[in-house]
Amino acid sequence: MEQNVPLINVTEELVRGIVRFLLHGPEYPTYCHCEVCEAKASAIALNHLESHYVATVEDRDRAFSYLKQPKQIAEINKQVIHAIHIIGQNTHKS
Ligand SMILES: [Zn+2]
Repeated sequence: MEQNVPLINVTEELVRGIVRFLLHGPEYPTYCHCEVCEAKASAIALNHLESHYVATVEDRDRAFSYLKQPKQIAEINKQVIHAIHIIGQNTHKS
């Protein structure tokens, strides 16, 4: 019997959350907050980061623990901020 097991990139979950948090925060008031710009920033950041695909809840927890180490979080934040700056230079304003 086939089951629909979700395949999740834990890096993507983290990146999308951080992009949303930062774009709606006080640091980027002039940047476009639309879903397209949010997704574009996430895509740029994710193309510069290692993927951590998982198929079970246990592996997801393990990947989260790994990615939440200071060194990993610092790298993720660096790529997200870089990506937001690239998108912020675009003329797309809603
Ligand atoms: Zn936009």
